[in-house]
Amino acid sequence: MQYFSTNHQSPEVDFKQATINGQAPDKGLYFPERIPIVSKELIENISQYSNEEIAYQVMKPYVGDTIPEDELRRIVGETIQFDIPLVKVTDRIYSLELYHGPTLAFKDVGARFMSRCLGYFVKQSESNLGKNKKVTVLVATSGDTGGAVANGFYEVEGVEVVILYPSGKVSSVQEKQLTTLGKNIHALEIDGTFDDCQQMVKQAFTDEQLKQNLFLTSANSINVARWLPQQLYYFLAYKLWADKNNPPVIAVPSGNFGNICAGILAFQSGLPVQHFIAACNANDVVPNYMQTQDYVPKNAVATISNAMDVGNPSNFIRILEIFQHQFTNLAAVFSSCSISEELTKSTLASVYKNHHYLLDPHGAVGFSALDQYLQSHPDQKGIVLETAHPVKFYDAVEPVIGQSVPIPTAIQHQLTLEKNSIKMEAKSESLKSFLLQLSGT
Ligand SMILES: *Cc1c(COP(=O)(O)O)cnc(C)c1O
Repeated sequence: MQYFSTNHQSPEVDFKQATINGQAPDKGLYFPERIPIVSKELIENISQYSNEEIAYQVMKPYVGDTIPEDELRRIVGETIQFDIPLVKVTDRIYSLELYHGPTLAFKDVGARFMSRCLGYFVKQSESNLGKNKKVTVLVATSGDTGGAVANGFYEVEGVEVVILYPSGKVSSVQEKQLTTLGKNIHALEIDGTFDDCQQMVKQAFTDEQLKQNLFLTSANSINVARWLPQQLYYFLAYKLWADKNNPPVIAVPSGNFGNICAGILAFQSGLPVQHFIAACNANDVVPNYMQTQDYVPKNAVATISNAMDVGNPSNFIRILEIFQHQFTNLAAVFSSCSISEELTKSTLASVYKNHHYLLDPHGAVGFSALDQYLQSHPDQKGIVLETAHPVKFYDAVEPVIGQSVPIPTAIQHQLTLEKNSIKMEAKSESLKSFLLQLSGT
């Protein structure tokens, strides 16, 4: 499988090169040259397949021959090594809980897959990556990404990870997830905002001296190795869906639109889905686009579902690419709506009160969007993707339900560990000298 750039100014590359590059040199996003069709056999008998076999079958064509079969089977097995249950919330709405991974975020799947692929590529061909250069993953985070990347890359041989986060602006759970691992994970606590962190990372990627001394790569959500494995949620949801004759409507809390775009890719490759809803918070660029066919990026506004506070979603171009920029085809299976803060909170409260199910703010946005859609489609049922554990957003959740959220045992221990971060001013030079020191120059 080859990948082209959505800007069409860069050469096509294979999965390995696309993973290593992250973004195409022309600043476009990599996109597969064709969408593989999954076997009818698999779809019709999906309940009889193991999750690992489904994952292998789905990912195989995208990876091509860049990773041998036994390695890829190991990688996908480790990627989905936790529960992904489908929980009934109401008669017509089910929640696919994607938060049982090690950092309680759905981003664990993408981060685990990418880290293992990159780890394999580094081990297998150091010459390709530049001899004697350490492979260093550099990433800025506003919260969830950093934890998933840190955990995913922890102890991956030959890869150092440097994570920049804005001091005082991530939740205490998120900060512990970033700063307590150690070993090959370095957490830089930046005296500034998320935008400052991102600016510093961008600057580092263009620095000639750094390029000569390190092999720098990014682990953000546009990387194909983070984007593509998200298709697995949708296949695994369908495996658990009881009424195979009436496929689900799927609502996806969306920010950068990587997750929902992977779902639509799964649909195009043969997975039965009734309809996709991109559920957005007040950041409504895509809902507006679906009304006007005019794509107008905005500055992000802050909400309680902060992982979706994105004003110019980078993966939306990939959705347009799937439909070859034909709006009618897109609108036939996809809609998008914007949910206010007020409605997010009242949904969270009422679902808890009436159905004894605790959503997080992102899941509440998705639930609300799905509920609205189903009201005008009485014959259909749906799934909301619950993208984070409510405890990660307890500052927002607790006042709404008037109760504290119990900490899952999986992370209790981590919360007792000592934070270990390196404080840094928001200056590119400071990051540069840190990276040069890390590379041993
Ligand atoms: C990242 C994130 C999202 C948004 O996912 P996209 O793929 O960027 O649309 C939604 N919810 C949570 C909890 C997230 O961390």
